[in-house]
Amino acid sequence: MGLAEITARVSAAEAAAGRAPGSVALIAVSKVQPPERVVAVLDAGQRLFGENYVQEAAGKWPAWRAQYPGARVHMIGPLQTNKAKQAVELFDAIHTLDRPALATKLANLAQRRGASPELFVQVNTGAEPQKAGVLPEAVDSFIADLRAMDLPLAGLMCIPPEHEDAAPHFARLAELAKRNGLTGLSMGMSSDFEAAIAAGATHVRVGSAIFGARDYSARG
Ligand SMILES: *Cc1c(COP(=O)(O)O)cnc(C)c1O
Repeated sequence: MGLAEITARVSAAEAAAGRAPGSVALIAVSKVQPPERVVAVLDAGQRLFGENYVQEAAGKWPAWRAQYPGARVHMIGPLQTNKAKQAVELFDAIHTLDRPALATKLANLAQRRGASPELFVQVNTGAEPQKAGVLPEAVDSFIADLRAMDLPLAGLMCIPPEHEDAAPHFARLAELAKRNGLTGLSMGMSSDFEAAIAAGATHVRVGSAIFGARDYSARG
């Protein structure tokens, strides 16, 4: 495993699905990884990363952005409304917009700053009670509300239930996006990104297959 192998597998999956080369953005999910592993991947040329925690990202990315021109960071973890201001300053995209209060906050920030990160709506495709995300049946009206607030909508995002075949969830997300005229699909992780690409993913979020396993006990 590692960046080169995953990049090659993304290209192969694009080709296998009849998709254009480069049509899938690989997000290297660097949460909780030791800095030297992230630096190695930056040095290898990767420029798009994903983080789950505002605080952790704030401690790492301002310096790396200055050092590695073109580096971009997407927020892929749950976002508390009281961290939204810090998040819009740190991230190029937020994949976890999942409720009206957060949308209102992001719209206010966008108006004040004259800019906003690109937004993905997280959909709870498995309707799991413990999981974040808008329920599939509520997606259409939520998107209509976001459009009325003039927020920059890039697409939809999902995290399928852990012990189920992910493919039907990817297909469901693609259908919801299409029906709402959205082209971005953030779906697929280390274990299933090829299935996600086959189903139309435009952004795959791959962590451990690039960096190795995460050691949560080592978090400072
Ligand atoms: C951690 C995380 C990933 C990456 O997971 P891997 O299994 O390590 O590839 C992708 N998406 C989200 C939302 C995550 O929280």
